[in-house]
Amino acid sequence: MTGIQDKVIAITGASSGIGEAAALLLAGRGAKVVLGARRLERLEPLVERITKAGGEAIATRMDVRRREDVAGLVRLACEHHGRLDVLISNAGSLAVSPLDDLRVDDWEELVDTNIKGVLYGIAAALPVFRKQGFGHFINTASTAAHRIVPGQAIYAGTKFAVRAISEGLRQEAGATLRVTVISPGMTRTGFMEHVKDPELRARMEIAIPPDAIARAMAFAIEQPPDVDVGEVIVRPTAQG
Ligand code: NDP
Repeated sequence: MTGIQDKVIAITGASSGIGEAAALLLAGRGAKVVLGARRLERLEPLVERITKAGGEAIATRMDVRRREDVAGLVRLACEHHGRLDVLISNAGSLAVSPLDDLRVDDWEELVDTNIKGVLYGIAAALPVFRKQGFGHFINTASTAAHRIVPGQAIYAGTKFAVRAISEGLRQEAGATLRVTVISPGMTRTGFMEHVKDPELRARMEIAIPPDAIARAMAFAIEQPPDVDVGEVIVRPTAQG
């Protein structure tokens, strides 16, 4: 199947920011979106908004740190629509956590959400994609996966891991499955709330809207099946 129309697309972290923008954009272009996040109270109005606009969306409360929850999201898509075309593993956590502070809880949260969340997505969708003979993984990394800045060693480490795992997956995926990494730069989302440092906040003034990242996801999805967009970096023009 080429294009976006009628594709079944599951999105983690769809309750705000980039995931929410992707849900709106892709549903607006005819995809059947299956949305997951912990805050069901934000997913439900989003489903309503998409449905009122003539689109198709369902949602479930899930935590990507729990393997069975991620499996549940994929199962929901398959049971409701009979297949899954794309899994967007987008949920992510940011903590500015200088190593000297030894905030080991932050480290664990970042690893559990950003790395294990993506791995659980692979564990859930890979057997489905193999059985179908088609499927597309889209994993959200970051420009932090390309350039490390002080205070973000662990966050950057998790995003390097997302890129490494995605490339390994791509190599093992064979001729029928597609794997895309989307690496956003500074983007205006709920992420900003995690940044307390006034200097860093001021630098984030240049952030771009989440729709800019959603458009890159759409670009990867709409390519013909034999075209795999490997990685897209989308950052503010002014980001160094
Ligand atoms: P938001 O904070 O707006 O969105 C994060 C999303 O992830 C929310 O929907 C949140 O939902 C979900 N999420 C977080 N933890 C979990 C969890 N344990 N289980 C399920 N869902 C979870 O930020 P963004 O939209 O910016 O973030 C999306 C992705 O983009 C992340 O992977 C992030 O690393 C990446 N990114 C963002 C950048 C930016 O500047 N904004 C830059 C580079 C990368 P809920 O809380 O309801 O569970």
